[in-house]
Amino acid sequence: MVDIKSVGVIGAGQMGSGIAHVCALGGYDVLLHDVSSDRIDAGLQAIERNMMRQVVRGIIDQSAMDEGLKRIKAAPELQTIGATDLAIEAATENEETKKAIFKALGPHLGDKTLLASNTSSISITRLASVTDRPDRFIGLHFMNPVPLMKLVEIIRGIATGPETYETAVNFAKSLGKTTSNAEDFPAFIVNRILVPMINEAIYTLYEGVGTVDAIDTAMKLGANHPMGPLELGDFIGLDTVLSIMNVLHEGLADSKYRPCPLLVKYVEAGWLGRKAGRGFYDYRGETPVPTR
Ligand code: NAD
Repeated sequence: MVDIKSVGVIGAGQMGSGIAHVCALGGYDVLLHDVSSDRIDAGLQAIERNMMRQVVRGIIDQSAMDEGLKRIKAAPELQTIGATDLAIEAATENEETKKAIFKALGPHLGDKTLLASNTSSISITRLASVTDRPDRFIGLHFMNPVPLMKLVEIIRGIATGPETYETAVNFAKSLGKTTSNAEDFPAFIVNRILVPMINEAIYTLYEGVGTVDAIDTAMKLGANHPMGPLELGDFIGLDTVLSIMNVLHEGLADSKYRPCPLLVKYVEAGWLGRKAGRGFYDYRGETPVPTR
């Protein structure tokens, strides 16, 4: 097994900042990279806010927070990530973006560095194929919000070696997570089931079967879901939901995975959900207000 001491995180958005957060609290040294220093700073601020919330709730103490924050360093240059033991890519859900990152990182990688992607849906085998180390490449699919959610889905590409798999499982466990293995097929397990349900909820809205409020109330109280599907879509990010539907549609060639035209329209408008301040709800006021 590879001894992991340092972790590089590429992408400092919702997921990258969450992954950096749990790695730092888990005792790993963390480098955090994004396309600009502003994005990295926004990620670091989110981590501080979220750790503070954990302190207030008594989940961690102040010294754990202080130590954790000290372990995370901004990495404005992608190449510095190459010196870490494990590089986890958590950039935008777009295959070309992810492949470009792995290609650019390639020449700077240490011999033993393991590579992982946090992709929600894209083939691990295809991403691994653009690197010089498909045997040391794996899918580590954290859930949102990372500090709260217990699961990490582990996805082996066709070439992922047993040592990489074992290291990845132990790494996830060291962060207090439970793992579940999924085969490398479009959207794996969680999103293969969850995201078509969100897409169906959007069709239900599109066809006028119910309003935003009616659909979310129905699923919360009628199916005992902690969040309504439209609220959950906003929480995930509607751009990510659309990308996952496209991967399912293209990868499985089944019309049942057709992305709802209303989802496409929201994404085209830049109404991406919570992170953009507006999606199926408008988050800019005190309480979220349905947009339809
Ligand atoms: P996000 O939009 O919050 O963050 C994406 C970040 O990637 C942005 O800060 C962006 O600037 C950065 N980025 C884009 N191109 C980059 C590049 N070339 N180099 C470095 N950084 C780059 O999105 P997110 O929700 O954090 O999703 C990130 C990944 O995690 C996606 O693959 C997504 O599918 C996956 N994921 C998301 C969720 C979720 O619920 N949102 C859950 C599990 C996995």
